Amino acid sequence: MELDLNVLTVASTRTAVEQRQVTATSLAEGFFAKIEAEDKQIHAYLTVSKERALAQAARIDAMADKGEALPPLAGVPIAIKDVMVTRGVRTTAGSKMLENFIPPYDCTAVSRLEAAGAVIIGKMNCDEFAMGSSNENSAYGPVRNPRDLSRVPGGSSGGSAACVAAGTAVAALGSDTGGSIRQPAAFCGVVGLMPTYGRVSRYGLIAFASSLDHIGPLTKSVSDAALILQQIAGRDPMDSTSADIPVPDYSAEIEPPVKGLRIGVPSEYFAEGLDPEVRRAVEGAIQKLAAAGCEVVPISLPHTKYAIPTYYVVATAEASSNLARYDGVRYGYRSPESATLSTMYRRTRDEGFGPEVKRRIMLGTYALSAGYYDAYYIKAQRVRTLLTRDFEQAFQKVDAIITPTTPTPAFKLGEKSDDPLAMYLADIYTVTADLAGIPGISVPCGTSKDGLPIGLQILAKHFHEPTIFRLAHAVEHAQAAVS
Ligand code: GLN
Repeated sequence: MELDLNVLTVASTRTAVEQRQVTATSLAEGFFAKIEAEDKQIHAYLTVSKERALAQAARIDAMADKGEALPPLAGVPIAIKDVMVTRGVRTTAGSKMLENFIPPYDCTAVSRLEAAGAVIIGKMNCDEFAMGSSNENSAYGPVRNPRDLSRVPGGSSGGSAACVAAGTAVAALGSDTGGSIRQPAAFCGVVGLMPTYGRVSRYGLIAFASSLDHIGPLTKSVSDAALILQQIAGRDPMDSTSADIPVPDYSAEIEPPVKGLRIGVPSEYFAEGLDPEVRRAVEGAIQKLAAAGCEVVPISLPHTKYAIPTYYVVATAEASSNLARYDGVRYGYRSPESATLSTMYRRTRDEGFGPEVKRRIMLGTYALSAGYYDAYYIKAQRVRTLLTRDFEQAFQKVDAIITPTTPTPAFKLGEKSDDPLAMYLADIYTVTADLAGIPGISVPCGTSKDGLPIGLQILAKHFHEPTIFRLAHAVEHAQAAVS
């Protein structure tokens, strides 16, 4: 096989399969060999789904043999964060609780990718139940950042970002509740898109915080993100919160010039705590957009400082409820040999969950308990409304908002793992969009002097992914011109 697997994009892979430069089967096998050789040190894969991948690849090759028209993602190897259930393929959510869990059905986003011809090659390491910003909360050990093995890949979709950066998958799906697609994308130097809440069905996504959870792509390019979103977006009767709004042709929306677009730059996201190199890279990219004809508008999102505390009340409250189902009765791990039912419940949860998940369950249960519900949960919901209004007001003046994705580039393994509050601050620029339900992307905009990737975040109104794609593509283009 002549193809360089490292540089394959969604589009170029499909073309290679369609033009019969390679069969889907040999391509999948090429990726298995690459994973075998290179993933030991990165540890992005928890499971390689060879059987399922080869069965799908054989279907694609049979179609090609018969000269049939191939579907849009024909033969493209895609990796799935291990919080999306896959029929017959172990799905752990990064937790000991689900170590041997074989789901009986498929997540809608996964089945849509497969229906579009994609080859699902594996299940990706992540923080336990998607709770974390470094992938160090995985029960199966951390993922290392392919750009610098001493550093974290970000989290919680660390494995999904790392496999795309390492070229051990062409693209991946991740999930974002407070930043878990965009933050690891920024740390690993790839593109990560969180679509509008309701744009992609959550059916089959193992729930962390249902009002905040989103599925989205991690890719090497903006146009790849558009190609994947195209397939996974749209109403699904299995998720009542999925929106019945037509899905535009995203690829067609990427190219139009950005001239005339108004971009808001919120002062709160360029304040204390922002690494000077990140600031310089993001401001440099904004200047290039201005040179391309965008109007740069200083704006304020005044309630931003309440975002992290609000998120950690709402997300933990929902988590404490969602994770109540793991009691040893129905799913996954059960502590052996308990004398009574209540001991079995207690031991199962004590042995099955890791420390961060326990902390979240306790915080959330406390916030929802009688006497504290009004003071914490209701208050947090009110502040969530204020944060959403900040965006609504800003979007009366601007078409999109640009910020850094993260305050710093990737940090070292172990650097923040003993300090949950420092870890929570890694999501300071990303949680706001989850709370407001608006879409956001992280796109690479430069590197630090140590060679670490820096990500720029673009936010837009609900269902305005096309605006995000246009601007992100312009940033990507300007970046390619420099490097
Ligand atoms: N890092 C955040 C948290 O720990 C966000 C996680 C996510 O988006 N799934 O909750």
